Amino acid sequence: MTDWQARAAALYDGGFRPMVIGGKWVPGETGAVIEACNPATGALLATVPRGTAADVDAAVAAARAAFEGPWARFTPFERQNLLLRIAEKFEQNWETLCLSDTLDMGMPIARTLANSRRVLGMLRFYAGQAVAIHGHTIPNSFPGEILSQTVKEPVGVVGAIIPWNAPIAGSVWKIGPALATGCTVVLKPSEEASLTVLLIAKLMQEAGLPDGVLNIVTGTGSEAGAALAAHPGVDKIVFTGSTATGQAIARAATGNLKRVSLELGGKSPVIVCRDADIDKAVPVAAMAVFANSGQICIAGSRLFVAREIHDEFTARVAEFARGLRIGNGLAPETELGPIISARQAERVEGFLRAGPEEGAHLLTGGARVTGAGYDGGHFIAPTVFGGVTDGMRLAREEIFGPVISALPFDTLEEVVARANATPYGLAAGVFTTHLGTAHKLSRRLKAGSVWVNMYHAIDPAVPFGGVKMSGYGREGGAEHLDEYLDTKAIWINTD
Ligand code: NAD
Repeated sequence: MTDWQARAAALYDGGFRPMVIGGKWVPGETGAVIEACNPATGALLATVPRGTAADVDAAVAAARAAFEGPWARFTPFERQNLLLRIAEKFEQNWETLCLSDTLDMGMPIARTLANSRRVLGMLRFYAGQAVAIHGHTIPNSFPGEILSQTVKEPVGVVGAIIPWNAPIAGSVWKIGPALATGCTVVLKPSEEASLTVLLIAKLMQEAGLPDGVLNIVTGTGSEAGAALAAHPGVDKIVFTGSTATGQAIARAATGNLKRVSLELGGKSPVIVCRDADIDKAVPVAAMAVFANSGQICIAGSRLFVAREIHDEFTARVAEFARGLRIGNGLAPETELGPIISARQAERVEGFLRAGPEEGAHLLTGGARVTGAGYDGGHFIAPTVFGGVTDGMRLAREEIFGPVISALPFDTLEEVVARANATPYGLAAGVFTTHLGTAHKLSRRLKAGSVWVNMYHAIDPAVPFGGVKMSGYGREGGAEHLDEYLDTKAIWINTD
């Protein structure tokens, strides 16, 4: 038994894990539960409450009471210190948080551990922002001595809904700016991956977070999620997830016209020009999809390759894919873990069948990985399809699995038009050694982030988000805080 396996057995023993409302750990109104299973083995890790609309009501009331109570009197310095204490607490417990994520959603332990720089950096970045919030004194054109100024005020109670593919970073991205600005939060994690989020709430409590500032309601999207999105006591919804759910949330939010920001799905293009440094581009283009077994919103799943180098490049990406180690994320050498659930694995398999049916050529992968060590879980081999055309499902729909679709192109004008011909606009990648091409393509691609000769870079200080049906609003960077702030204009007649 490896050290990680021994620690895993001690962390989750199949028992019940309550949720937190108003600082109290509670089972939920009905006592109904959801099972949290390890996607690598199928083993039961724990059960969590299946929260209802009544639980959401209680959580929103607790968040409102905290917003109007002691939390409102926290100075920027105090909020900054709290965020720094939370960062310290996370650092001390980082391995436990990562272990929990690996068990609950399958991400390889090597990858969860490596995310610390970003997550701790996020908390410390928001700590810095907590003391940098300010309005302006603005000259006006009225006669006399009339002062006009703006102040920034927290929007109030924030409802946060997150998916299962990155619970630690995903929840900190919602909670960090709320704590920096003085908002309170009701967070609903994914029903597929709630355990680490509950652990995060416990650590924040231990770091001194006042009761009611962060409430977690576990449960399904159609019950707890929908109740939160529609709740009249919620001032703002921040959501990360699929585009279809984002649309449902935007509709539900119209009842009280709550503010909404949406980080949604993608079908991101990666463009490999004929002058690209192929040795450098191959592993980056491959991991632009295969990282986290393709369960990444920014997956560069449409691989456009200049026709002259298409066959060589795709063969090398396929060879790279064959070398990736697939398995239980607890093994330190694992590079690709399981798909989150049987349902999602079946969905990905549907694309694996559709590819050849529509005329794509399978270069590698294309099936589940089975046998000893795999049968209890949901493993899919990293897959590369060549000969994909723009109209195929492979090229149009978000797969959220380890599947690359390679498409040849002839000219830059053509590839920009094809890359942009999608309802999505989350991210894009370009590989070229020509500065002019780098500049032109990065300006013409319609996406929230464009990476040149790299992929995946996300930094606490740099804004991230989508355009078109990949959503609106930005996370990260100073402008993230504006998503959690209202601007009030104050006029004072000093005559
Ligand atoms: P999902 O949309 O199915 O679920 C996301 C969350 O919404 C879950 O907590 C779910 O319970 C909840 N939910 C579902 N229906 C709801 C409803 N009607 N009302 C309120 N809440 C509801 O997404 P998923 O399958 O968990 O995650 C994968 C998706 O997330 C992909 O489309 C991926 O691209 C996207 N994603 C986007 C980003 C980004 O930053 N843009 C990051 C990660 C994932």
